[in-house]
Amino acid sequence: MKLFPEDPMEEVYGVADIIKPAPAAQEAVCQEPSAAISREEAEKGLALLKDKVSRCGGCRLAATRTNTVFGEGNPKARLMFIGEGPGADEDATGRPFVGKAGQLLTKMIAAMGLKREEVYIANIVKCRPPGNRNPDADEAASCIGYLKEQIRMIGPEFIICLGSVAVTHLFGASVKITQVRGTWRSFQGCRVMLSYHPAFLLRSPERKKEAWIDLQMVMKAMEENK
Ligand code: SF4
Repeated sequence: MKLFPEDPMEEVYGVADIIKPAPAAQEAVCQEPSAAISREEAEKGLALLKDKVSRCGGCRLAATRTNTVFGEGNPKARLMFIGEGPGADEDATGRPFVGKAGQLLTKMIAAMGLKREEVYIANIVKCRPPGNRNPDADEAASCIGYLKEQIRMIGPEFIICLGSVAVTHLFGASVKITQVRGTWRSFQGCRVMLSYHPAFLLRSPERKKEAWIDLQMVMKAMEENK
């Protein structure tokens, strides 16, 4: 399957050429994800949380949203993607990653050999920042409890954190994604790969090769931990 069909460089980065092993020193994979939380309990819990989010007025973004964008996917996904927040298309539909960047994310998921419905996709903030600005620190702080609860219930083994804004708010330290991409972190006992946001890849297609390397590291680690 072609990862980025619109990318003329695609032909030169085949899997065999660029795959590289995941770093050896890793934390245990999801030490205690949500083994105690069954699929049924996760489905119920996520539905209740989604309803709570739909009525949330926890920060100023409530005043300008059309829809909350809770997240979607497999309630017991092995892999979760986390972005920074909804854009215009997501605000209009209430679904995460459905615009152009979302279409690229769907291709990236397919290139990993997965279906979109097999993974879980969510954002740091559940309401669109006006004009697609980055979420402010206080907005992210008000909202991130919902994401933490989603992660707790889903219990993914792996998370791919997309872009510097999401990484900064998830880990509470400002980063440049160009400097930290392709590296692993740990969050709530899950292994987290830091990588580029698909919107950034649309603006900087020359970075797609690095993104593909990141995805392959996750694929390899998922295979090793089956
Ligand atoms: S962004 Fe999060 S905290 Fe703010 S209103 Fe929306 S759901 Fe509530």
